[in-house]
Amino acid sequence: MRSYTLIAPAKINLYLEIIGARPDGYHELAMILQSIDLADKIDVRSISVDTIRVHCNHPQVPTDKSNLAYRAAELMATQFPEAFSKYGGVEITIKKHIPVAAGLAGGSTNAAAVLVGIDLLWKLGLTQSELEELGATLGSDVPFCIAGGTAIATGRGEQLSPLPSLDNIYVVLAKYRSLEVSTAWAYKTYRQQFGNSYIRDTDSLTARANAVHSGEIVKAILNKDAREIAQKLHNDLERVVLPAYPQVLQLREVFATQEGVLGTMMSGSGPTVFALLESEQQAQAVKLHLREAIPDEDLELFVTRMITHGIQVASSV
Ligand code: ATP
Repeated sequence: MRSYTLIAPAKINLYLEIIGARPDGYHELAMILQSIDLADKIDVRSISVDTIRVHCNHPQVPTDKSNLAYRAAELMATQFPEAFSKYGGVEITIKKHIPVAAGLAGGSTNAAAVLVGIDLLWKLGLTQSELEELGATLGSDVPFCIAGGTAIATGRGEQLSPLPSLDNIYVVLAKYRSLEVSTAWAYKTYRQQFGNSYIRDTDSLTARANAVHSGEIVKAILNKDAREIAQKLHNDLERVVLPAYPQVLQLREVFATQEGVLGTMMSGSGPTVFALLESEQQAQAVKLHLREAIPDEDLELFVTRMITHGIQVASSV
């Protein structure tokens, strides 16, 4: 096989709690991550020249070493130098559908696809946990993106506990095309404003992170109770992003007034806001109403749904 085409789904956060500061400078988080049916298409192909090349159809996405997909290929090349010299270089082509810098893990899922694609291309036979371990060195969301579905993520977000998958809940996403929120800014601002309330001792940090496993939203997920899940959505980063970005707050408010919306929340560090619904018909109606309520061409709206998987192979040649 000389090339694989992979489907790389986005994620939303059903839950994001900032528990405290870690000695390594990152935040200790408790999150619930959910894959959605909005995905990039990644082509990973062996080439005869000994190099890594990235192409992307989206003007805001870099194609140099700062692209997370590039860094994933580079990591594989350094980890498996014999395979790299045996199979030659790698050409990665990214067809972007996931909005960029949106809190939807667009870069992370591309990196996850490249890890899976190169594992297949070079016939390495890595296990899921080996791939997740490699992914964790690239970014906190990368391990989740590999298997996807529904999962609790603790630590920096790389420690995963799968939950029974949700799949028949519909999601409307709203994002202003030209509005980007830096993840680093959101966490830094949160630390400045709320750092005093961080839990600092290791035992209490662990206890709090473990508490999410028996939390109310997890119970709702175990019961596959869409209404209850929607009532328990939570994202600490809204405390800094909503006051700084009134447009995001407005999306949240307009979603909340729509018929059929079970709950609404910002995803990750934003600025994407999502709403949960029980049927596709309701989701389409909400999309239409939102378009009427906010007639701004910069506003992108997507109807999608929760899915039970992460990276998938679409074809191989
Ligand atoms: P997360 O939810 O994991 O915080 P995000 O969805 O907020 O991620 P990304 O779409 O991953 O954000 O983009 C963040 C930045 O990373 C962008 O400014 C972009 O320039 C850069 N980037 C690097 N590689 C990629 C990639 N493959 N796809 C998208 N953006 C990328």
